[in-house]
Amino acid sequence: MHENSAIGTKTASQITEDSRCQGSSADQDLLRDLVTANHILHDQGVVDAFGHVSVRHDKHPDRFLLARNMAPALVGIEDIVEFDLDGEPLNAAGRAVYLERFIHGQIYRARPDVIAVVHSHSPTVVPFSVVKKTPFRAVCHMAGFIGTGTPNFDIRDVAGDGTDLLITSNDLGKALAKTLGDKVVVLMRGHGSTVVAGSLKKAVYRAVYTEVNARTQAEASRLGEVTFLSEAESVTTSNSIETQVFRAWDFWKQKAAAATAAIF
Ligand SMILES: [Zn+2]
Repeated sequence: MHENSAIGTKTASQITEDSRCQGSSADQDLLRDLVTANHILHDQGVVDAFGHVSVRHDKHPDRFLLARNMAPALVGIEDIVEFDLDGEPLNAAGRAVYLERFIHGQIYRARPDVIAVVHSHSPTVVPFSVVKKTPFRAVCHMAGFIGTGTPNFDIRDVAGDGTDLLITSNDLGKALAKTLGDKVVVLMRGHGSTVVAGSLKKAVYRAVYTEVNARTQAEASRLGEVTFLSEAESVTTSNSIETQVFRAWDFWKQKAAAATAAIF
């Protein structure tokens, strides 16, 4: 859940004037790719009205880019906001921002290798976050990046009972980043998951195939005992398949563009 905390009414030109980050504009292609990433993740069923994707600023590694508080399918280039790693918006100019932006900032701070972050509530992954004895593991070659085990963040361990399960502070973001460690995927108990990568396109690929792996693992488990990828297979398959991310991106981009055109 990521409800509005304020409603902005300024125009794009006013937003630029208000910016505290003039002269440091992010690359326009990167901004366009971030918009595309939003649309792909919606079209592929990873996000719905909720969930978000960010990318580290190409000129300022201590900043990241993330849409204002809105459904990913509707994001345009004018909706991208720049943040520092504490989740402080630098050019929001009154526009509402996501409640869970601290996920992104604290992961970028903890993981210099991470260039993009996807947080979602993709529906088939959530069950793996709430069962105690079934690990979420790579079961197919397209998802080798998941490896042989996935950390599971339980907010109750950090903040006690009665939270809304959302990562709404830097302390919670830090705790989540600590649970993620050096892995690619972290489950979030009863909430969703967060996926990281060294590029935006790879993060989108991994978020899509995290959901695919969850479907495949759940289906295989119903049929019988599952043979998972080994540690060695996880490494080899991810090294091999992830050289092909561009193919998925190019296809998903066109498909999402058609879907977006249908919305408008
Ligand atoms: Zn969330």
